[in-house]
Amino acid sequence: MPLFSELKRTHNCGELRAVDVGKMVRLNGWVNSYRNLGGLFFIDLRDRYGLTQIMIDPQAIDSAMLAEANRARHEFVVAAEGVVRARPEGTVNPKMPTGEIELKTERFFVLSESKTPPFEIEDECKAHDQLRLEFRYLDLRRRPLQENIRLRHQTTFTVREFLTRRDFYEIETPLMIRSTPEGARDYVVPSRVQKGKFYALPQSPQLFKQILMVAGFDKYFQIARCLRDEDLRADRQPEHTQVDMEMSFVVPDDVFAVNEALMAHVFKVILNVDIETPFPRYTFDEVMNRWGIDKPDLRFDMELVDLTEEVRDCGFKVFSENVKSGGVVKGIVLKGGGEFSRKQIDDLTEKARSFGASGLAYILRPAAGDKSPILKFIGEDLKDRLCARAHAAAGDALFIVSDKALKAEAILGQLRLHLGKEHGLINRNRWRLLWVTDFPLFDYDEENQSFQAMHNIVSHPHEEDIALIEEGFASSLDPTNLAHPWRRARALQYDLVINGWEIGSGGQRINRPDLQKKILEILGIDSERADRMFGFLLRAFEYGAPPHAGIALGLDRLVALLTGTDSIRDVIAFPKTANAVSLMDGSPTPIDAAQLEELGLMIREDIKAE
Ligand code: ASP
Repeated sequence: MPLFSELKRTHNCGELRAVDVGKMVRLNGWVNSYRNLGGLFFIDLRDRYGLTQIMIDPQAIDSAMLAEANRARHEFVVAAEGVVRARPEGTVNPKMPTGEIELKTERFFVLSESKTPPFEIEDECKAHDQLRLEFRYLDLRRRPLQENIRLRHQTTFTVREFLTRRDFYEIETPLMIRSTPEGARDYVVPSRVQKGKFYALPQSPQLFKQILMVAGFDKYFQIARCLRDEDLRADRQPEHTQVDMEMSFVVPDDVFAVNEALMAHVFKVILNVDIETPFPRYTFDEVMNRWGIDKPDLRFDMELVDLTEEVRDCGFKVFSENVKSGGVVKGIVLKGGGEFSRKQIDDLTEKARSFGASGLAYILRPAAGDKSPILKFIGEDLKDRLCARAHAAAGDALFIVSDKALKAEAILGQLRLHLGKEHGLINRNRWRLLWVTDFPLFDYDEENQSFQAMHNIVSHPHEEDIALIEEGFASSLDPTNLAHPWRRARALQYDLVINGWEIGSGGQRINRPDLQKKILEILGIDSERADRMFGFLLRAFEYGAPPHAGIALGLDRLVALLTGTDSIRDVIAFPKTANAVSLMDGSPTPIDAAQLEELGLMIREDIKAE
């Protein structure tokens, strides 16, 4: 066989067209398919750029090469040299960009063989996920994944270019950092040089990007890998990628403006979709109230309606007692749901239970007349008023949940999404981008009777609520009371939501040590613990910390949205399973005794035995 340097491609498999007819070319690629028709061989040759048909006429090539062509099977890597010719009348394939031509092969070589692949390399893959992950390189050869990875690259490139033009520096923060026992669990790396000590892999570059602000790099970004050792939920990965950014001398409006322009640019470049800016902003209270979730999907309506006042004094105890004890009664309307069957109601009630509801009340308005199991308690009149209040017209269904406010809202929010999906209410071609702002600064943990940071200990309180911090220390109210000043304090913390996905999260940060100290005190973090957690940041803040704010966008989720896949796995070249295992390289693995020795580590006997 000639040297590969003599067989190297002159063109890729996606580029030859009718204008190239008559050219002598060489192609390299994988055998996508082969067939023998009327004594002629046809092979579709594939590479990243496309497919080109090569034709081999046994009469026209020497017998050794013919034997090679005979040997070629799916996924063999081959080289073919020949003349581009127009496909004969009637064999043009308008579906292929190269469909007008074929290569009339003069020389043919197998460059490398392939075992029979465990699944076929085709657009629709029916193989089991496990198998696809084990042979990820084969899965990645499939066109949809090639397209996803291309689009991911194009997205990161677009982001880099955009931010660079806006004066941002891309700065790498370390991958081996100090472990902080808060938040999600750290992945740790043992130190050999300092035995018994460990680095942590970063859960995010948060503290380092803030220190970059102290260092004067007032616009920073990084396409950063973040690692969290969490029990993985359905579509989580132990490592994910963020477009992380931070700016100095800014307020949240500035972060919104940059990110709105960035999103509009990315959507235009990647999808040729025009996104309107600015994006609507809703406070946390408002989204919970109206859609029962902090990441509302606004591609469809079905807002929650508040029926509390209507039922306050009604005869139906389930409602009125709940209202009396401070709860709410809320509902959602499914347009055209009036003809729901018994079975559909049962299924939906089961769903509601799985979301935490103790029951689901409803009023159906079919053509034959209204139906409701609570009619005997609430009477015709109140039923009509509830329907009027909720805009439940003839033919519709009204579903009602009675509970504590946040709980009732969360249940209805889940039901709304469920019904939206089940009943095809979600317009897949619509893009709804929005900000959720003013998250509560603290969460009160009733079990541990302590305040916790809702997002981040460095989240800056809303400027109007700074006084509440001080008031809380003096307040005689019990912390379980929602009126407690600390429970009313809002944070300058925001999320970017696209089509019901939380795509980004960020905030204004505290830059004054005195304010930070107060927050730490509320959280019950003493100075020793604070020092262990992020003393190096607090120390840096003693040397002139500018006001700063930032955000991190989940790149995997963003790309998943842009490609239209429901799973981030489809846009990550080498994802892990839900058990954080990589089936392709088999990680994690034990390490050998010598390595352990060198690191000063020992594995417990009971674990070894397992
Ligand atoms: N560091 C935060 C996160 O990883 C994002 C931010 O506030 O910038 O979620």
